[in-house]
This record gives sequence, C-alpha cells and structure tokens, in this order.
Amino acid sequence: MKKPLLMTPGPTQVHEDVRQAMAKNITNPDLDQDFFEYYKETCNKLKKIFKTENEVLILSGEGILGLEAACASLIEPGDRVLCIENGIFGRGFKDFAEIYGAEVVCFEGDPRKAIDVKELKEFLDKDNDFKLATLVYCETPSGITNPVDEICPLLKEYNILSIVDSVSAIGGEPIEVDKWQMDIVLCGSQKCISAAPGLTFLSISEEAWNIMKNRKAPIASFYCNLALWENWYEEKWFPYTQSISDIYGLDCAVDRILKGDNYIERHRKNGEAVRKAITKAGLELYPLSGFSNTVTTMIVPEETTFEEINNHMLKEHNIMIAGAFDYLKDKVIRIGHMGENCYEEKLYITLKALDETFKTLGVEMKGSLQKHFVDEID
Ligand SMILES: *Cc1c(COP(=O)(O)O)cnc(C)c1O
Repeated sequence: MKKPLLMTPGPTQVHEDVRQAMAKNITNPDLDQDFFEYYKETCNKLKKIFKTENEVLILSGEGILGLEAACASLIEPGDRVLCIENGIFGRGFKDFAEIYGAEVVCFEGDPRKAIDVKELKEFLDKDNDFKLATLVYCETPSGITNPVDEICPLLKEYNILSIVDSVSAIGGEPIEVDKWQMDIVLCGSQKCISAAPGLTFLSISEEAWNIMKNRKAPIASFYCNLALWENWYEEKWFPYTQSISDIYGLDCAVDRILKGDNYIERHRKNGEAVRKAITKAGLELYPLSGFSNTVTTMIVPEETTFEEINNHMLKEHNIMIAGAFDYLKDKVIRIGHMGENCYEEKLYITLKALDETFKTLGVEMKGSLQKHFVDEID
C-alpha cells in the first residue's frame, strides 16, 4: 500500500531530491580529504539557518543525542542546573542533567502557556547560582513555543549558560543564536529540516567551549563528548565514522531551505491559518499562549477518541497525524505543519479529511475546517 501522507510533527515528509542525495555513492569519510570540506560546508550552511558565527557540528544520532551530549559535556557532578520547563521535553532535560550528576532545580511553567519571562525573572532574583539552564524552544507535544529570544539574554544577565532544545523549531520559527546569546542550540534532521531521522546538529558558543576545556572532572562519555571535536578540522579527524549518506541528505535538505521561499513566513502563515480554522470550527486548541507555527495541538473532541480519529484518517484518507504521549496521551491530536509538511495544499487535504472524519464520528462543528483554512490563507 502507498505510504500515508506524513502530517506528523516529525519525522516529516522527505523530498525526492533529498532521497536521491542519500542514494549517492559514498566515500571513506575518515580518509577522503574532500569529505572534511564537504562536512564543513554543510556546517557553514547550518550556521546561516542558526544565524551564528559559533561552531556548528553534526553528530551521528537522533536529536536526543544532542540533548545528552550537551549535558554530558557541560555538567560536572554537583553543578547546579536550572531546568526551565513547561512540557514533556523540558522536564526530560532534568533526567539527562541528573545522569551526569547535576543538582537540578526546576522552574515550572503552566503546561498550557509559554514560559512567563516576568515570573522567571522574579525567580532568578531570589536564586541564580546556576552554572547553566536547560530549556525548550518548541514543546512539540503541546504545540507551545517559549520566548527564548528573551529568556537567553536574561540568563546571561545572571551569568547562566543556556542549552536550548530547538529540535522542532529551527527551520520553521525565527532563530538568532548570536543575537539572543544562546550557548548550545540543538536541532534534529527529521523535523522542520525535513531530512531523514538520524542526525543531530548543534551550535556551541565560545563560553561553552571554555567550560568544556576547563573542567575538573573528565567527561563521562565518549560518544557524547563534544570536547573531542575541538580540532576536528585542523587535524582532519572525526571521533567516529560519519553517517555519510545521512549527511548528503541533510546537505540537500538545507539547500532546499536556503534557496527556497521565506520559510519562516510560510510557517507563520500556515500555522496561524490552521489555528484559526480550528477555533472558528468551535474546536479547542491545547495551548492558551505561545502558539507554535510548526505544530498545532488540539484537544480531542468529547464525542470521540484519538484512536477513532487516527484510525479513520489512516484507513479512509491515508493521512498520518499524531497524538501525544505521557500526560497528553489520548488527550490531544497533533498536526505537524513543519518543513515539507508546511504547504497550503497538504494542509488543505489534511483538514478536508479531518472534516469528513469528524463528521463520521459525530463531532459537532461550526462549518468546515478546510473552508475556514482557505478563508484565512487568502
Ligand atoms: C523530536 C524532538 C526531539 C527528539 O526526540 P525524538 O522523540 O527521539 O524524536 C527532541 N526535542 C524535541 C523538542 C523534539 O520535538
């Protein structure tokens, strides 16, 4: 059977050109001098998306590798770490920090709202003795973006480093790593970048490098040790053999982003139109603020269940949407409008299928999602 249209918030649809790039003949990435240049060139392209002069590295592993590598490389046993969280990924950072011996303090935000910068500042005025803070740009399960543009500069005022999970934001939401003074910013290949799952890439500030180099305790990992990469280019040496085919795919996907339209505006416009369509139809969004432009999370209508909606969408329309996990399991439906998914025609098809699905399942709606979407987008 034909694979369903992938409208999940990652992995996203991978363009034909990217798949072709992954099929290219390989070389020996440890020995072929040209590959070091190719890798560096791909990192330079990523710098343009990140808006940074900081070093960018591509690591062979899914986004979680980036989260863990940042924690492993910066945290020493006994370090105080502030975990700024209002969702599942934010909270998950605490576990990674603790694995590497941190003493973690959480700043808990409302799970349905963006982190409140004023409240965070009040918190920091009382307690700011932290080496670093972890935070999430876009909480993918709840569809909420946090104001990292304000939070990261605020942390700097207190001399606190930031590790920012931007896996589901970069390539869809604005990002200004240097201007916003972000220390480690990480992203994955399978969300808004729309390459195949398998790679993580991250930017590392000068200050973060210094901290890694001047640690007292050695980094308790090899695969997660970012400090090993310090002179990779000068020495033409990678800590392990690079996933060359994945990097070919990533490079092509990044080219598509850089040479294409104004992708941030496209995400803003489509994201807003999807949200308007849902609220106009009388359905309820999960977030109360900080609405993400890369993923929309809505509450499962009381007349039905996530399972019924999902089965119907798959069987009758061959479209894959997502639910969520942890405390949001069975409570929400998510539509990923990130990267290659974020085009009017794909959202039009998805919302039209949702209209039919909701009608069949007896969900009461005001008008049609697809029609409201079209009215908004025009
Ligand atoms: C997708 C994602 C990751 C990577 O996690 P997986 O569940 O393994 O795909 C990390 N952080 C965020 C915010 C994500 O959306």
